[in-house]
Amino acid sequence: MSTAVTANTTKRASGGSFLIEDLLPEDIFTPEDFSTEQKQIAQMTIDFAEEKILPRAQEIEEKHFEVSRSLMREAGELGLLSVDVPEEYGGLELDKVTSALIADKIAVSGSFSVTFSAHAGIGTLPLVWYGTPQQKEKYLAKIASGEWIAAYALSESSAGSDAMNIRTQAVLSPDGKHYILNGEKMWISNAGMANLFTVFAKIDGEKFTAFLIEAGTPGLTVCAEEHKLGIRGSSTCPLRLEDCKVPVENLLGEAGKGHHIAFNVLNVGRYKLAAAAIGGARKSFRDGVRYAKDRIAFGKSITSFGLVQEKIADSAAGIYAGEALVYRTVGAIDAALAGLDKTSPSFVQDVQKRIEEFAVECSILKVWGSEMLERVVDQMLQLHGGYGYVEEFPAERSYRDARINRIFEGTNEINRLIITGWMIKRALQGRLALLPAIKRVMDEVMAGPGTRTVYEGPLAEERALLASAKKLGLFCSGAASQKYGNDLAEQQEVMGALADILIEVLTLESTILRTEKMAGRNQLAINMTKYYAARSFRIVETAAERVIAAVAEGDMLRTQMAIFRRLAKHEPVNTVTLGREIAAVMVEAGRYTI
Ligand SMILES: Cc1cc2nc3c(=O)[nH]c(=O)nc-3n(C[C@H](O)[C@H](O)[C@H](O)COP(=O)(O)OP(=O)(O)OC[C@H]3O[C@@H](n4cnc5c(N)ncnc54)[C@H](O)[C@@H]3O)c2cc1C
Repeated sequence: MSTAVTANTTKRASGGSFLIEDLLPEDIFTPEDFSTEQKQIAQMTIDFAEEKILPRAQEIEEKHFEVSRSLMREAGELGLLSVDVPEEYGGLELDKVTSALIADKIAVSGSFSVTFSAHAGIGTLPLVWYGTPQQKEKYLAKIASGEWIAAYALSESSAGSDAMNIRTQAVLSPDGKHYILNGEKMWISNAGMANLFTVFAKIDGEKFTAFLIEAGTPGLTVCAEEHKLGIRGSSTCPLRLEDCKVPVENLLGEAGKGHHIAFNVLNVGRYKLAAAAIGGARKSFRDGVRYAKDRIAFGKSITSFGLVQEKIADSAAGIYAGEALVYRTVGAIDAALAGLDKTSPSFVQDVQKRIEEFAVECSILKVWGSEMLERVVDQMLQLHGGYGYVEEFPAERSYRDARINRIFEGTNEINRLIITGWMIKRALQGRLALLPAIKRVMDEVMAGPGTRTVYEGPLAEERALLASAKKLGLFCSGAASQKYGNDLAEQQEVMGALADILIEVLTLESTILRTEKMAGRNQLAINMTKYYAARSFRIVETAAERVIAAVAEGDMLRTQMAIFRRLAKHEPVNTVTLGREIAAVMVEAGRYTI
């Protein structure tokens, strides 16, 4: 386990605390804190992506799965598949920042990135965390080397978001040697090339349980490839299970506890998805900026036009904020995992519990990362004009490939509900001091206008915006809880708007702290932070107004809107000038740079 992470993250942030605590720059991990080892692995991954994956992107797109398989073998030889695998089973067992970095840097092809993540993330982790020594002995080395490809089969045609409602059944055979599985699975990534499936079924229709099933097991049929909007070079198939005999020793974890497996690995899947979204956005950005530099219209490069520069600046600031968000969170997870005793019998459970602490952050990363990526690919496609709409240029594929990220690993709607619901649950359990914080803000706003905290430094206004965003988040949570009480969960639009505020608070704070940690030395970072903060606060304002208008009416509405206006009061920043300055640097570099 790398020590660099802990050395650079002095404070152990607990999940969800970002709304009620103010951290200092030195409390968080940032991309500027990558250790030498992390940078080396990142560079190795970049080289692999640029030299091996990108030249074969078209073959991958055309579903030449033998190409993806051989690239997976090469990735395995480089150790890229085994970062989360224990050393005793041929893995590298490195920190989570390294695994996020690999997901980030490998994401130059949406299709290959999905193949890679389905294998190295949700395909591998159930076995790492829940496998018996015999199961690990049998399968892990093959999976870590890329000799075998893994898949994770939870969803069914009538149970995607509603995953607990799966219908696949498992029944113990009369001789007690096998489970007999019957049912179907839908949209299983890697299915067409996988050797090992983690399949979820209910024993006797009740006990939610995971099973390891090898490809070729009689009764397991991999059905035809789906024809997809994007990530066409990844394999996605339904599975059919007809009296599929699975040896009892291939039951994974405990019977009836499969939902822990299913959901715990999703937290990791979510932060890795966000890391991959940043990598995808960086690649799309590079394609877009390079194209724009060369494209002449009205006698000059289109990068000389303000509305083109605006898209470049907005996308760059998004990527910068995304890096801050992802590596701050994954760094905090590493800090939480540091010091766990690997020899303890409860080590694996301890790891999961500590990661689970960050469930709300993982959902935030997933939602924000997938939506940032979509904004970037859209803007970069727009820079291509008509050429953006045809297959000849990469913008079209990036645009299509990005769309899936809002659907899998929990749709963004489900994740928004998780974000707000999880915070409320924690507060009610007394594990997050949300209620006293709400009360403090309520008391403060009811007392009328007070003195405003004065912040210093190049990001003083942004610090003030962040403080206001936190207060608005607490104020709106309080107003919504007062109105709906325990029925708040039924008010999904309000839950969604509250989630939007929480998402922006974490992202904005991460971005500001990252830049402050550079001690104000980097003007580009300052500009991007200011640019992002302006956009972020507009989202917070819109969401807060939506909540207030939903929960109050008449005089109460007028009072709450007066409070809202007081809390949201700020001087606007000149994003036109900032945008031009950011774009000039990016255009000069021909890619995202910091
Ligand atoms: C390319 C691809 C790869 C995939 N890979 C895998 C894989 O490897 N393994 C696997 O197990 N699954 C995989 N999936 C499945 C994926 O996880 C599901 O499609 C996803 O969870 C959504 O489920 P669903 O399709 O049943 O949609 P539904 O659950 O039917 O949702 C439809 C819409 O309703 C909304 N909705 C549903 N419930 C609620 C609610 N309670 N409140 C508010 N809104 C709601 C959703 O957000 C969505 O917008 C993959 C899917 C695709 C397309």
